[in-house]
Amino acid sequence: MADRSESESRKLLRRLRDTLREPGAGQERLDRIVRLIADSMGCEVCSIYLFRDPETLELCATQGLKKESVHQTRMRLGEGLVGRVARTLTPVNTPDAPAEKGFRYMPETGEELYSSFLGVPIQRVGEKLGVLVVQSRDKRHYSEDEVYALEVTAMVLAEMAELGAFAGAGENAAPPHVQPVTFRGSTGQEGAAEGHVWLHEPRVVVTNPVADDPLTEIERIRAAVGELRVSVDDLLNAESLDKEQKQVLEAYRMFAHSRGWLRRMEEDIARGLSAEAAVEKEQSAARARMEQVPDPYLRERLQDLDDLSNRLLRILTGQGNDTGATMPEDPILVARNIGPAELLDYGRRLRGVVLEEGSVGSHAAIVARALAIPLVIHAERITTEALNGDPILVDGDQGIVHLRPEETVARAFRDKIAMQAEAQKRYASLRNLPATTLCGTTISLHMNAGLMADLPSLEGSGADGVGLFRTELQFLIRTKMPRRAELAALYARVMDAARGKRVAFRTLDIGSDKVLPYMKPPDEPNPAMGWRAVRVGLDKPGVLRMQLQALIRAARGRPLTVMFPLVTEMSEFQAARAHVLRELDRERSLGHPVPGTIEIGAMMETPSLAFAPRAFFELADFVSVGGNDLKQFFFAADRENELVRRRYDTLNLSFLTFLERIVARCAEAGTPLSFCGEDAGRPIEAVALAAIGFRMLSMRPASVGPVKALLRKVNLEEARAAIGRARAEGAESARPRLKEWLASVEI
Ligand code: PEP
Ligand code: MG
Repeated sequence: MADRSESESRKLLRRLRDTLREPGAGQERLDRIVRLIADSMGCEVCSIYLFRDPETLELCATQGLKKESVHQTRMRLGEGLVGRVARTLTPVNTPDAPAEKGFRYMPETGEELYSSFLGVPIQRVGEKLGVLVVQSRDKRHYSEDEVYALEVTAMVLAEMAELGAFAGAGENAAPPHVQPVTFRGSTGQEGAAEGHVWLHEPRVVVTNPVADDPLTEIERIRAAVGELRVSVDDLLNAESLDKEQKQVLEAYRMFAHSRGWLRRMEEDIARGLSAEAAVEKEQSAARARMEQVPDPYLRERLQDLDDLSNRLLRILTGQGNDTGATMPEDPILVARNIGPAELLDYGRRLRGVVLEEGSVGSHAAIVARALAIPLVIHAERITTEALNGDPILVDGDQGIVHLRPEETVARAFRDKIAMQAEAQKRYASLRNLPATTLCGTTISLHMNAGLMADLPSLEGSGADGVGLFRTELQFLIRTKMPRRAELAALYARVMDAARGKRVAFRTLDIGSDKVLPYMKPPDEPNPAMGWRAVRVGLDKPGVLRMQLQALIRAARGRPLTVMFPLVTEMSEFQAARAHVLRELDRERSLGHPVPGTIEIGAMMETPSLAFAPRAFFELADFVSVGGNDLKQFFFAADRENELVRRRYDTLNLSFLTFLERIVARCAEAGTPLSFCGEDAGRPIEAVALAAIGFRMLSMRPASVGPVKALLRKVNLEEARAAIGRARAEGAESARPRLKEWLASVEI
């Protein structure tokens, strides 16, 4: 870096800062800035393009192009060179713009006179705001230092835009964080909620992007990095850490002590940025890399760097997690992602949760479900847009979030909430009535659970018992392996809370998407089909045995129900069952009380088990279809993969025919059968399952009411006839016929 250019970029930044300090409306400021940049860089043209909506850029200010084109010239993301810069978030630097691939000539601007082009993104930590462009008549290739100067200028503009410096310069230049924004994500947990934003990790606001005195700034950054290093070292020296946590923190330490990181930030300060802006520049670069790295390990490391940058910014600005904000009374948690334990800490105080990442099967989603809080996942960029206290509406049914909604939207939304509350009242009135259909068949409705927090719903929902208790949740929310006594006490509390109702405890189902934080997952090419669930329990039976002992001790003479996940062939069930019997013998020989009765069942989650020998069905005390897994293996469609997970319909007749086969096999052997996947909680699916012979369904507590209400209104003969019609027509799915029939049913 030449000294000359160092001082040039510093000079430019200073002039920019002074310009920004002058009073004036947004448009005036933008106009002054483009003049200033063109003048400082010796270019004929300087233009600022800002996003009008996520797909469209608009020319908002220019020096050198025709003034009439301001707020008129627009281009799509990816269109022309400006669109390319915006999409790729990388500069385009060319001496001969018209010869560039993708160049688009915009006659209204008069830009045909200019040959060279340099465009850089205006972005703030991965948030795309627009593009800053300089152009010249002569065919010049802008030097590295000029590119750098324009990049940091763009960064400062982004910071100022964040602070609302350009408000009033057209719709697009209005300060962010005041307009209504709608996010379309995916459903994590159904339900609607209205409230105010509570950021899990509030964003740090940088108010001084330009350095007044580089030497002071360098001292500040060194001191802050020093403090950061000490804090990471302290974390590492904490006694309670296990090996895994240490490994993660080691990676943190490596970054915190990285000389390259500090050096790059010092260079940025020397070129005119403040310490905070230098950290953000590095963070933006890391985020941009993160978007392009497919390797999950590397992405995680870049994520570490991102977290460290946030910590460093908090040290520099003194804005800790505790920013002085008080949690609103109706908080809706907004976060990039959140761990299950952290979410449980917030507990039922939250009205809703919105995540940028997450997945339907993630632990946070499971906890949100247990707490019956509406959850929207994949709400991209919401943490960049939302501020603490912003009004927000969460539509968990549609996976939509309205941030700072218009009053009309809010009003319609409130109507929806009121309607849901009405429906809840209706369901509550059915609580003590059986789910008996018009044709006189009673379906036993149970609920799925996994946390103590779920248990109050047993009473509230009117479920007949817990058809699936996912024991792994207790393992997932801890930082280390729970002990036997701890588990026994917990299972006893679950049984106490169930007050004699049946609880089917499923043994530890880890692997695939459920990774214990304290157990290193094996490196598997396809974890969903890998070493998971009962396979782990049988190969390494230590934890399984400990868990079985805890269950037996918890029962203390009461009935006990145990089921094994992902049983694929009979011998696995025999081996797993033998473990239970062995532990029973052992407890008995130790003189401990054993359960009064014990039921040992298998989850049917792989198609192969449906074709197991009859002896399997005779040996199993019951079979429970884990539809989530069974469906993913039947259709070969990963339940975690957004691209395919909704592709195949549960009411597809091939799948229904297959389920009928399972019903028949259980009936032949007299084996009780239930269905405990998510589909059991969807009213139409539940009716179809009942129609083909399932007499016990287990679902999330909130679904018991709607499913019961519908079952009580229908005649299963008619449902079977509708399925029959679909089959006779050679249809792929029974859904259209079932819906058509239900439309004629008086509900
Ligand atoms: C299933 O697979 O349907 C099931 C109930 O288990 P889980 O969702 O916990 O894998
Ligand atoms: Mg499963």
